[in-house]
Amino acid sequence: MEFEGAFRYFPKSEATWHIVKSDHGIGPRAASFMNKALYARAQELGVRFLVETPGKKILMEEGKVAGVLATDKDGEEVKISCKAAIICTGGAGANKELIKEETGYIHGVDMFNFAIPGIMGDGLKMAWEAGVDKLPVRIEQAAVLVGTEELAGSVCNVFSQPNLLVNRNGKRFMNEDQMQNTTFMSNALSHQKDRTGFSIVDSSIVKYYMRNGVDNVSLVHPDADVSDFAEGVKTAQENGVGNLIVADTIEELAEKAGINVENLVATVEDYNDYCESVDEEFFKDRRYMRPIEKAPFYCARFCPGGYGTVGGIRINENCEACDKDFEPIPGLYAAGADACNIYEDSYMFLLPGNSMGFAVNTGRIAGMTAAEYVQE
Ligand SMILES: Cc1cc2nc3c(=O)[nH]c(=O)nc-3n(C[C@H](O)[C@H](O)[C@H](O)COP(=O)(O)OP(=O)(O)OC[C@H]3O[C@@H](n4cnc5c(N)ncnc54)[C@H](O)[C@@H]3O)c2cc1C
Repeated sequence: MEFEGAFRYFPKSEATWHIVKSDHGIGPRAASFMNKALYARAQELGVRFLVETPGKKILMEEGKVAGVLATDKDGEEVKISCKAAIICTGGAGANKELIKEETGYIHGVDMFNFAIPGIMGDGLKMAWEAGVDKLPVRIEQAAVLVGTEELAGSVCNVFSQPNLLVNRNGKRFMNEDQMQNTTFMSNALSHQKDRTGFSIVDSSIVKYYMRNGVDNVSLVHPDADVSDFAEGVKTAQENGVGNLIVADTIEELAEKAGINVENLVATVEDYNDYCESVDEEFFKDRRYMRPIEKAPFYCARFCPGGYGTVGGIRINENCEACDKDFEPIPGLYAAGADACNIYEDSYMFLLPGNSMGFAVNTGRIAGMTAAEYVQE
């Protein structure tokens, strides 16, 4: 693999985000070039791929792995005999029931994680059924702006800036200058009513950003230019995007968004005072202290989100899948999100790329250990 380099997701993070070299530079879908390179190399080595043939069961004989049962696209059972199997089905990000059972979050209500089709937790169930110790399955969290995906990128960019952030009770709940670490934000949101927060800006702030660009950009939202914000808001209003509110007074904004009116008015008053002195509540960086004074006012809803699930299969340092006594189950290995028990409910944003890094490295370790086991 070739990489563009190792990058920081935001200034306070480490430069650990290894971005794969693609034919279109840094941007969405770069990682697919890694899949293509690995696929080509595997083909060279004579690996046989069975697509649309999900594994369903690990076959055990005398306490050791003896094969895998799968079903092909015509519903026919496929039996693969083998001495070793590596489970790496990517977690359960698209399995709403499993997410609810394991984490309490309800996808589409208070959890807006990526739900990549086909990632249903098959490997977790196969491992648990084969006797592997079941560890908690967690969402790899990072906050998201809800319901604005179809709008111009500038909408998300403006509301992600470190301005005023309140909960349904109209109170601030974290230092907004940490909003770029969307995992910190998601963790804080998880403790609010309806697991909801509202990012609020006024028209002076919007005007400032439209003229000068936003305060913070990342490689995911690299463009500081938000000159099409007004257009994005107009589209939202036409399309009835209920999570983006525009109002002429703070009271109206609160009412429309479902925020405690009295508290929000008081919070805005206090916040505007802090802008002239010091943020007595969170000691936010002065550079981002801009008063909320001039109509129209805008707010948008943030909720916990995430990349998918992590964890569930106990492994040891050799990526051997282990039972409750921490004893390896002979011939069974696990890697990637299915076995990633180290982050709990957070994407470790200070070390960006850690999740893919864990998948790549555990995949490699599991492969080496399994090959050694089979040779022996
Ligand atoms: C939009 C998005 C952006 C991300 N950005 C980053 C990032 O910038 N940095 C980072 O570190 N991480 C990122 N991640 C997380 C990262 O992609 C995952 O941690 C990583 O892909 C996990 O690798 P894996 O091999 O465990 O699972 P996957 O890459 O999900 O692969 C699992 C494979 O198993 C297949 N499968 C499922 N069920 C079965 C079955 N029953 N039988 C056979 N095959 C099956 C699936 O089809 C899939 O091909 C991102 C994730 C998403 C969704």
